[in-house]
Amino acid sequence: MDTAGKVIKCRAAVAWTVHQPLIIEEVEVQPPKAHEVRIKIISSGICRTDDHALHGDMENMNFPVILGHEGAGVVESVGEQVTDLKPGDKVIPLCIPQCGKCSSCLSPNTNCCLKTHMHEAQNVMPDKTSRFSCKGKVVYHFLWTSTFSEFTVVPTDAVAKIDDRAPLDKACLFGCGFPTGYGAAVNTAKVEPGSTCAVFGLGTIGLSTIIGCKLCGASRIIAIDINRDKFEKAKEFGATECINPKEYSKPIEEVIIEMTGEGVHYSFECIGRTDTMKAALECTHMGYGTSVIIGGAPPNAHITFDPYLLFTGRTWKGSIFGGWKSKDCVPRLVSEYLSNKYNLDGLVSHTLPLDNINEGFRLLQSGKSIRTILML
Ligand code: NAD
Ligand code: ZN
Ligand code: ZN
Repeated sequence: MDTAGKVIKCRAAVAWTVHQPLIIEEVEVQPPKAHEVRIKIISSGICRTDDHALHGDMENMNFPVILGHEGAGVVESVGEQVTDLKPGDKVIPLCIPQCGKCSSCLSPNTNCCLKTHMHEAQNVMPDKTSRFSCKGKVVYHFLWTSTFSEFTVVPTDAVAKIDDRAPLDKACLFGCGFPTGYGAAVNTAKVEPGSTCAVFGLGTIGLSTIIGCKLCGASRIIAIDINRDKFEKAKEFGATECINPKEYSKPIEEVIIEMTGEGVHYSFECIGRTDTMKAALECTHMGYGTSVIIGGAPPNAHITFDPYLLFTGRTWKGSIFGGWKSKDCVPRLVSEYLSNKYNLDGLVSHTLPLDNINEGFRLLQSGKSIRTILML
């Protein structure tokens, strides 16, 4: 059946309004316009960022919306002037695009393309219209990806073509979770062999950060979480010690400084809370410690801190999508995965059909899952 150029009716999880369960609906998906492709999504992970968006904890949100930004699929059709992708290509939609033309893309020092949602809303396609509708209403895009739909439309600046051999049931991890944590260690912190690391929060992001710290040759990786159930996985991925802040009477940054003598070389905040961002900075070595913020804080959150923490030489950084220039680097990461550089099986705790998406969100909220992957 040739669907190119035609409206496709398919199933998608629609978030009609904030805080409400998603509803599986039949939606219409318009054909891609110039510089866009329509993708058949095969798998999609549920990331904490989708949960933040559903609960209004994200800037630039419009409802109704189709969430999801960690997907993998196959190009169904391409719009005009698309030269680098063709129907049948295996692809990953990119929640951080790489337009290749903006000042960020032209700089070797950042991956934060000016077409990302923090700079320009991505609720609609670049021509300011949506490709989705349902029951006569416009449905908005999310991060230009909207992977909780059997079909989605994405601008080519936000699509990476991956190896034909990639297993599409797992490749979705390369759309957010794995590159984000792994790259924060490898690219942003540039963890050195023999160094000490502290990783706050042991979801997919924190565990992927641990994978990065270990591959860089860190000698100690201290993993921190208030949920003890996360410790076993953290150790499997390379944590050398696991600690629960609830089991200490003193602040966790003091515990970490005592454990290491003078504080860690590198710390990573993979939760999204301002108190743990501060603790992560404070537990690093006063002269050469580097702390990396990966967790997404709620909109309008602010931190106050003692400027002497930085005065003495500490570095405080942020990391989005692991610092990877997405369109260039995701294919490379997938190829490295295919050559067994990383084993990511442990990141996937549950696999569910799209119909059970609300159960997937509940598993995340209750701390019972790492990644739940939806099969579409
Ligand atoms: P997750 O919810 O699966 O994991 C968070 C972990 O933090 C959980 O294990 C939880 O028990 C733990 N935690 C919560 N409060 C804590 C506390 N006070 N002290 C210690 N541990 C605590 O989430 P995830 O999918 O791994 O995402 C983590 C964060 O990263 C989120 O804020 C998400 O929005 C953000 N994120 C950032 C990027 C980026 O590009 N920078 C990309 C994806 C996700
Ligand atoms: Zn994510
Ligand atoms: Zn750009």
